[in-house]
Amino acid sequence: MMQTIRGFRDILPKHISLWQRVEKEAIRLFEAFGFKEIRIPILEKTQLFARSIGEVTDIVEKEMYTFADRKGDKLTLRPEATASIVRSYIQHKMYATDPIRKFYMIGPMFRRERPQKGRYRQFYQIDAEILGVESAYVDSQLIFLLNELFKRLGLTGLSAHINSLGCPECRPSFQEALLGFIESKKDKLCKNCIRRMDKNPLRILDCKVTDCKDALADAPATLDHLCPACEDHFNTVKKTLEKQKVDFIVDKSLVRGLDYYTRTAWEIQTTTLGAQSAVAGGGRYDGLVKELGGPQTPAIGFAIGFDRLVEVMEQLNEIPVEKSLDLFIVSLGDAAMEKGYHWSCELNQLGIRTEMDFRGKSMKALMKRANKLSAQYVLIAGENELMENTIILRDMNTKEQVSLALETLVPELIKIFKK
Ligand code: AMP
Repeated sequence: MMQTIRGFRDILPKHISLWQRVEKEAIRLFEAFGFKEIRIPILEKTQLFARSIGEVTDIVEKEMYTFADRKGDKLTLRPEATASIVRSYIQHKMYATDPIRKFYMIGPMFRRERPQKGRYRQFYQIDAEILGVESAYVDSQLIFLLNELFKRLGLTGLSAHINSLGCPECRPSFQEALLGFIESKKDKLCKNCIRRMDKNPLRILDCKVTDCKDALADAPATLDHLCPACEDHFNTVKKTLEKQKVDFIVDKSLVRGLDYYTRTAWEIQTTTLGAQSAVAGGGRYDGLVKELGGPQTPAIGFAIGFDRLVEVMEQLNEIPVEKSLDLFIVSLGDAAMEKGYHWSCELNQLGIRTEMDFRGKSMKALMKRANKLSAQYVLIAGENELMENTIILRDMNTKEQVSLALETLVPELIKIFKK
C-alpha cells in the first residue's frame, strides 16, 4: 500500500470546514486592515533562504529540503514565506512606486524536523508582512490583529510573549556580554553550541538541549542592552498594547530561530499542545530588504502555524457539524434519471446542495443513501409520477410529503430552499 511520506499528511474533508473557517476569518481581517494577497513560488534558489534566515540556523543547517535540479541549480522547498516576499518586493521594484506594502499569504512550508503532534514536515502558515513602516504602531497593530483573529475564532488560553532583540546599534554590547557569559558555561554546552559560539552566538540561546537551556537560564538578554531608540520603540509597543487591552508577557528569553529579526519579536503560545506551544510567531526585520539587495526598508511580519491553530480549535471542541445535503433526488427508471440529472445541475447552479445516484438502484437503496447523506428533503421521481406530471417531495425530518407540479418544480424548490 502506498503511504504518505513521514511528516507529510492528508487533510481530509471532515477536517476541512475548520481550515476554511480560519481562512475566511483571516482573509476578512487582513482585507479590513489593508493587506493584499500575494502568492509566491514553493521553490526558490537555496541562496535566498541561506542569506535571509542565516547560514548558522537550525532551518538552514539541517531542516531544508534542498536538491539540485537537472541543471545542477541548488533549489529549496520554501521553509517560510518572509524571504520570498522580500525577494518579490525587490524583484518587482515595488519600493519604487510605493514603498509601503502590506501582504498576506496562506500556504504550505517545508522543514525536515522530527515529526510529532503539532510538528510536520509539510505544514501550513498564514503569513502577514508590512514593508516600509518603521513606526512601533505597526508592531502593536500586528499583535492586535493576531489577538483579534484568535478572539474571533473563539480561542482561549493563549498568551503573547514579546521581546526586543535590538538593532545593529545595540548588538555589539550585547554580543560582548553574551560571549563572556557563554565562555563561563562552555563546559556545560553541547557540541553544536560550541561550534556556534564564534559563528552565531545568538543562536545558542535557542538551543533545545535541556542541559544547554539550564546552563543558559541566566544568560544576558538583548532587552538589557537596548539603545535609546530601541528602548523607545519597545516602550511604545507595550504602551499601545496596554491601551488596547491586549494581554502580553515580556519574555527576555524569546529569541526566535531566524537571524533576520531586529527589535520587536513575539510568539503567541498555547498551553494545550504540549511541547509545540507556539501557535504564531513574528518580528521586525529592518535589515533584510537591504541585505537581499533592495533599498533600506524597515519591515515586520508574522506567521501563524495553521496546523497548530486548527489542532487547538479541535481541542476546544470547535468541530463544526458537517453540512448536510438540501435535497436528494430518488430517480427510478431511465426517464427519471435523465430528468433528475438536469434538475440536480440546475439546483446546484443555484447553490442548493443536491445529490442523486446514477447506479439505477432500488427505491429502498436510494432512500438509504439519502439518509446516509443526511438529506433534508427527498424528491421521489418514478415513472408513474412523471406520467402524471407530479412529483413527491418528502421532508425527511417531519416525514411530511407534498406533491409538486412538474412544470413548476424548480421554481417551487427554489422557494423552499431559498427561504
Ligand atoms: P517560524 O516561521 O519558525 O517563526 O514559525 C511560525 C509558526 O509556524 C510557529 O509558531 C508554528 O506555529 C508554525 N510552525 C513552525 N514549524 C512548524 C512545523 N514543523 N509544523 C507545524 N507548524 C510549524
